[in-house]
Amino acid sequence: MSNWFPLDLEITKPHPGHEAHLCMAHNTGFIEKNLEAYKKFVKDGKFVCKSCGRVAAKAENLCDPEAL
Ligand SMILES: [Zn+2]
Ligand SMILES: [Zn+2]
Repeated sequence: MSNWFPLDLEITKPHPGHEAHLCMAHNTGFIEKNLEAYKKFVKDGKFVCKSCGRVAAKAENLCDPEAL
């Protein structure tokens, strides 16, 4: 599996768009191996994920976003 993010494939489970969710990025090892790239997604975070607590600048990068 690619370690890049968002993944260049569509993931429809547990929901469409999951390939671009930071919640999933941890499972692929992306965060550990690409911390500098990961920072760009969380910098100036405006949304928090209600299921895992991660923060992202864009709602599209979280499974269950809520505005901060
Ligand atoms: Zn999450
Ligand atoms: Zn998701």
